[in-house]
Amino acid sequence: MTKELKAHRLTREIADLQKELRDHQEKCKHSRGTYKYDANTGNWCEGDDKYWISCHCSVCGKRWRAYSHDDGDEYRQIPKNFTEEDKK
Ligand SMILES: [Zn+2]
Repeated sequence: MTKELKAHRLTREIADLQKELRDHQEKCKHSRGTYKYDANTGNWCEGDDKYWISCHCSVCGKRWRAYSHDDGDEYRQIPKNFTEEDKK
């Protein structure tokens, strides 16, 4: 039996762990976390301006963005119990 290279083994283990984390995050109910309104306005073409909410679940660590332009419902729907991040 040939010895598996350490780098190959570690790469495989990282991929397995990333999959495990994704599965864990998919099952999470995101019951606690923070959100922040964000945007990149002021584009030369107003149509390029985007608005989104950055969400961060503190239970599973998942971070995602809900864009206003491609999923209006998700944009309006912030998970319950999420609190707004302090504005800087
Ligand atoms: Zn979560």
